[in-house]
Amino acid sequence: MRMVFLGPPGAGKGTIAKLAKEFYGIPHISTGDLFRENIKNETELGLQVKSILASGGLVPDSVTINMVRNRLAEPDCKKGFILDGFPRTIPQADALAEMTDLDAVVDFQLSREEVIKRLSGRRLCPSTGRSYHIVFNPPKVAGKDDETGEDLIQRPDDKEDAIMHRLDVYAEQTEPLIDYYRKKGLIKEVDSSPKPTEVFELLKKALA
Ligand code: ADP
Ligand code: ADP
Repeated sequence: MRMVFLGPPGAGKGTIAKLAKEFYGIPHISTGDLFRENIKNETELGLQVKSILASGGLVPDSVTINMVRNRLAEPDCKKGFILDGFPRTIPQADALAEMTDLDAVVDFQLSREEVIKRLSGRRLCPSTGRSYHIVFNPPKVAGKDDETGEDLIQRPDDKEDAIMHRLDVYAEQTEPLIDYYRKKGLIKEVDSSPKPTEVFELLKKALA
């Protein structure tokens, strides 16, 4: 299964991808996670993109496309993949079409109001990237990771100004991809508003 997860930031793509990768036995490739890993490890790429991520803008297409091309060339992608957060622009989608065929593009649908609630309450474990929500998926001890006990952090781009900017960028640059893929007959719509286990059931039905 070769899939793309589309939908606004905060729709729950990463959360559902973690369930789907086990179920379908395919890797979960999140371009946001790849960029954050590079930032944490202070690689050349990480230094190049750090301020872009913090502001909520998009990394240039050429940089992003190269990173994805390298990742898709790895052997674990032969049996399929979940691309989460890529493509985000029409040129990225055109480049992806040159790299591989796709079986489905899932549009995770959630209102702007719910998106803002999910993003503003999201917290992460800095070393493992495990994600929580202060109301919808709280850790056992407030502010601490369930396993490592580390202090949870808020992503710089989950602060209010950056959230608003990301939603504008999504509407301008990424939302047009829904029509782009609908014309190719690939779009599967999934209501992302119920709890994660239910969203996952809706995904399995949409893909069956
Ligand atoms: P995305 O990858 O689309 O940006 P995430 O999977 O990181 O979204 O989810 C954003 C936030 O919303 C996280 O804090 C997560 O715990 C929470 N969340 C994810 N899915 C749901 C859901 N179905 N119901 C409630 N909260 C959710
Ligand atoms: P979200 O919670 O918005 O789904 P991601 O983790 O997917 O966030 O992405 C975080 C940031 O990483 C984006 O705001 C952007 O700066 C950068 N990024 C991720 N994927 C792409 C992409 N395909 N093209 C350009 N920039 C990207």
